[in-house]
Amino acid sequence: MTRRYVIFFRAVVIALVLATAPLMATNVILNDYAVSHTMEEMEAIGQRYVKRAEEVINETVVTLQQLDRDNAKTCSMEDRTVFMDAVSQKGMISAVGLVDAFGKRMCVVPDLDTAETNILPAARPDGPLVGIGMLDKEYRGAKSAIVSWDLGNTNRLYAIISPAAIAVDPGPEYIRSHRRAELTLGKNLKWFSVGGFTSGDANSEILATNVKSTRYPMEAKVAVARSSANQLVAPLKLIALLASAAMTVLFVAIGIWVSWRPENEANDEFNKAVRNGEFVPFYQPVMDIENGTLRGCEVLMRWQRPTGEIISPGQFMAYAEANGHIFEMTRQLMLKTAEEMGELYSQNPDLKLSINLFAGHFHDRQVVADLKKAYEKSDISFQQVVVEVTERYPLEDMDLARKIISELQALGIRVALDDVGTGHGGMAYLQKLGVDIIKIDKMFIDPLGSDENSTTIVDSMVELADNLGMGIIAEGVEEEDQIDRLLELGVTAAQGYYFAKPMNAEDYIAFAKKTEENAAADVAQADEFAYEEDMDFESEEVAA
Ligand code: C2E
Ligand code: CA
Ligand code: CA
Repeated sequence: MTRRYVIFFRAVVIALVLATAPLMATNVILNDYAVSHTMEEMEAIGQRYVKRAEEVINETVVTLQQLDRDNAKTCSMEDRTVFMDAVSQKGMISAVGLVDAFGKRMCVVPDLDTAETNILPAARPDGPLVGIGMLDKEYRGAKSAIVSWDLGNTNRLYAIISPAAIAVDPGPEYIRSHRRAELTLGKNLKWFSVGGFTSGDANSEILATNVKSTRYPMEAKVAVARSSANQLVAPLKLIALLASAAMTVLFVAIGIWVSWRPENEANDEFNKAVRNGEFVPFYQPVMDIENGTLRGCEVLMRWQRPTGEIISPGQFMAYAEANGHIFEMTRQLMLKTAEEMGELYSQNPDLKLSINLFAGHFHDRQVVADLKKAYEKSDISFQQVVVEVTERYPLEDMDLARKIISELQALGIRVALDDVGTGHGGMAYLQKLGVDIIKIDKMFIDPLGSDENSTTIVDSMVELADNLGMGIIAEGVEEEDQIDRLLELGVTAAQGYYFAKPMNAEDYIAFAKKTEENAAADVAQADEFAYEEDMDFESEEVAA
């Protein structure tokens, strides 16, 4: 189960990476696009302002020159009528007037303000023909520009340009509310300024551009908050986000499909193998090492493929346990042993048959029913059955495990603790579970004879077993001198390649018969010795 979650988790992570990488790249590209596009817009706005200002000034200068040419250069009634015509013809010109050498107004049309104020600087001998300045009056951020034309007689004609004349297209919507634009004359003379930044823009980078006039000392400045530039691509980003979300879902789906599919195929294959009864018992003899007789066997599962291939539990047991197949597999295994071993075991009531259970078997009492079903009406009696539970992995519910073990013991089934010494078990565990037999792991048997320390470990296990009244079996015996050491330590039962590897039913039955014959022969031989000794004794007696 957990493996599936790992696979699932991995699929999600990979999908997220696959989907978010393009999303991030898209965002970068879109942001870049937003900035460059906004800069272009800003440039265009600046150009429009400058162009408009140039046009307005040009047209005003042309109008003033025309008045000069038409000889309208006094404050006479007649000339003022000509001025008035000019004002009404040129919408952008709001007034036309005359100033003297000091820049003091001599007359203006229409006559809005009669005070004789200085509205232009004093004329300079080397001054330009055309002068441009700003009046202080402001209308919606724009000032009235004032353009003068030197008449050559120390007087100058002038025209006031209405602030509205400079109003131009403020640029696209997304820029408008987050921009600042201004047009300045000379160094710092402001013609107009519009817009400004909100507090939200304060955190944002500001994009700025300057456009200079080639004809007049005039400059337009446009600045836009980058955050508003990004608004331009916000809908595209949303689309990209949705696309990448869709891609994530797609990738996850593909990932799950890819990672689940073989799992399901494997599962189907496995189920089929279980149904076909491909999981069969092999039997490994357990020997009495004191007298060489057979004590019984451990049942070890094998996967016998239809091809004849035989697969060891190392390759499928973890999967079978993780996916719960093991319950059905164990039931089948027990039924098969009853079938295959019934005859041998009914003839040899002392033989034991040991079945491996796993921790999951102690989660509920089903295993009691399974064992009953397999052996109750079989030729193998409960007294001949042993179940092994490994110490390697902890049992979740110790109380329940204890109950199940007592129920099994009540039937006459014995319980062995497998792989003792490898787990977390310890003395308390043994006592609590109340097992009948302990099986010492191969790991502690291997170094017997070569390593003195290992002897003391086995020694203490033997002592423990004796104290608790438990039987003891040594696992994985491969060498003859291990047997000698075990006997010295008081272990009388052992299992291992030294005696026999796990084998099929037929071979195990043959092994049992042969062992019995050998033992019988040994006994006969021993009897013969006894007889001879008797003879000697007798003859001695006779001699005596
Ligand atoms: P285990 O219960 O500790 O079984 C002993 C393992 O040691 C067996 O491996 C056996 O073939 C091997 N063995 C016996 N003597 C020797 C020896 O002298 N030298 C060496 N090197 N190995 C020896 P196997 O049959 O491959 O089984 C491996 C494990 O699979 C078992 O360890 C047991 O935990 C599990 N298993 C086997 N059959 C079943 C079963 O029916 N149900 C459950 N739940 N687990 C099983
Ligand atoms: Ca075992
Ligand atoms: Ca074992």
